[in-house]
Amino acid sequence: MGKVRTVLGDVDSKDLGIVDAHEHLIRTGGLEILKNGEDWRLNDVSKAIEEVKLFAQAGGKTIVDMNPISNGRDVQKLVEIAKAVPEVHIMTCTGFHEGRIYDNVIHWSATYEVNRIVDLLVADIEEGIDIYDYNGPYVERSSAKASCIKIGTAYGLITPVEEKLIKAAALAQQETGVPINTHTSGGTMAYEQAERLIRYGVKPEKIIIGHVQRNPDVWYHKKIAAMGANFMYDGSYRIKYLPDSSRAMLIKEMIKAGYQKHICLGTDAGRRTYHKTWGSGTGVDYDETVFMPRLRDEGVSEEAIQDIYINNPARFFSIDK
Ligand SMILES: [Zn+2]
Repeated sequence: MGKVRTVLGDVDSKDLGIVDAHEHLIRTGGLEILKNGEDWRLNDVSKAIEEVKLFAQAGGKTIVDMNPISNGRDVQKLVEIAKAVPEVHIMTCTGFHEGRIYDNVIHWSATYEVNRIVDLLVADIEEGIDIYDYNGPYVERSSAKASCIKIGTAYGLITPVEEKLIKAAALAQQETGVPINTHTSGGTMAYEQAERLIRYGVKPEKIIIGHVQRNPDVWYHKKIAAMGANFMYDGSYRIKYLPDSSRAMLIKEMIKAGYQKHICLGTDAGRRTYHKTWGSGTGVDYDETVFMPRLRDEGVSEEAIQDIYINNPARFFSIDK
């Protein structure tokens, strides 16, 4: 299948094991915290190390930290975590959150033209991530490189800045071969993301549409899977939005429709209150400790579990070059 890019270097995709394809270990600052509150600030390396150790104890082998550019991404902290828990591969991303996380007038994601943004994304993937997280004006690259490109869209619409960033991500994807791992708001605009990325030349198998379990409309998911795109289902123990039964239902329905090879999972534990080590959360290991036994209990086959937790993400994150 090829290589995948961890923060400590490239590894064979066969070595990824159980993958949490959308996670948050570190978020030191940025507008998301200013808008939402301190619960979003994940700035403690020792707590993150303990959280990753719990994930390893539960059988987990790879975590993809999906905190994007200029949102408190701290690649040096991720490297520290990766070195402290060598049994778990840590991967991270370049790219952008949804537009509302940036100032859409003065941030460079709004003011730079597409090709300049493509160059910055490609450099994060092929040269190393800026230790100042492109907050500028100086850039100093870490040895750690990005494994995938994030894009994000608003609830029910794609803003002009988001449109431009989708195009930049698509061009950077084709130059580097890493997948695009997306953020949808409430599972809306999933079809539109896939449609645009494909139109800009991305192979559908390199697209992973995120957070779509928030819109558990099986017809809609089948329509996107029929284009060849893949899904990251998260929402682990987010009962305030949907019970776990909804995600289990989606997985079973998609398997029944022949799309077992289009699904991977993430816990997306992007707040202190979702982490065990910050106090009260259900943890980054939830999908291994609670959700996997549940899928077995609900009759999902061992072969499907292997695909969803291991084989599919290994294929999605392989560098296509
Ligand atoms: Zn997230």
